[in-house]
Amino acid sequence: MSDRRRHRALVRDAVRVARGLEAEGLVVGTVGNVSVRTGAALRITPSRTAYADMRSRDLVEVDLASGATAGRGTPSRELPLHLAVLRARPDVGAVLHTHSVAATAWSFLDEPLRPELEDLAYHGIGSIRTAEPAAAGSDELARIAAETLAGAAAVLLGRHGVLTVGTTPAEALLAARIVERQARVAWLVRGAAPWATGVASAVLDDVAGASPA
Ligand SMILES: [Zn+2]
Repeated sequence: MSDRRRHRALVRDAVRVARGLEAEGLVVGTVGNVSVRTGAALRITPSRTAYADMRSRDLVEVDLASGATAGRGTPSRELPLHLAVLRARPDVGAVLHTHSVAATAWSFLDEPLRPELEDLAYHGIGSIRTAEPAAAGSDELARIAAETLAGAAAVLLGRHGVLTVGTTPAEALLAARIVERQARVAWLVRGAAPWATGVASAVLDDVAGASPA
């Protein structure tokens, strides 16, 4: 497949993922954003545009090196976050940011979201670290998030939300679903049996080997 066709397919995939976010309960309204790498540029969901009406042409093109917007449209205000992650991770083709409820609530705790469920270890996600809080849309948030993400598939943004990555938007979406599911289970376990948290994860860590945090 030519690069151009591959990039077009990635952009279509990003639109599909963006359109499904609200129905899946991962975002409400136009909060949350998706980007894909298209060669030396990225394409990102626009600011304040209803996902249901979104088309491929609505995704704003931004030069990866300079951060300058090409063509029309206003990129999502979390553009710096997407730029920082795509610049730091040449292996990543897509970035997804949501405020899914359980994972966002976990980002208020000063502790990683550990792989209590087989799902996280199975998909190679491992423990998910939480980045220090920083203002939404800021360069500081972008820097801290990319640093805390390091080589992982997901990071919690302190007191804010979730960021996941993948080679494609569909892969980043799968990671976002798994993180949210793990967070829901972790909250339920903590509510019902606070003493149980940490026991299962210690066993799983032994099974899965070293985890990033
Ligand atoms: Zn956000």
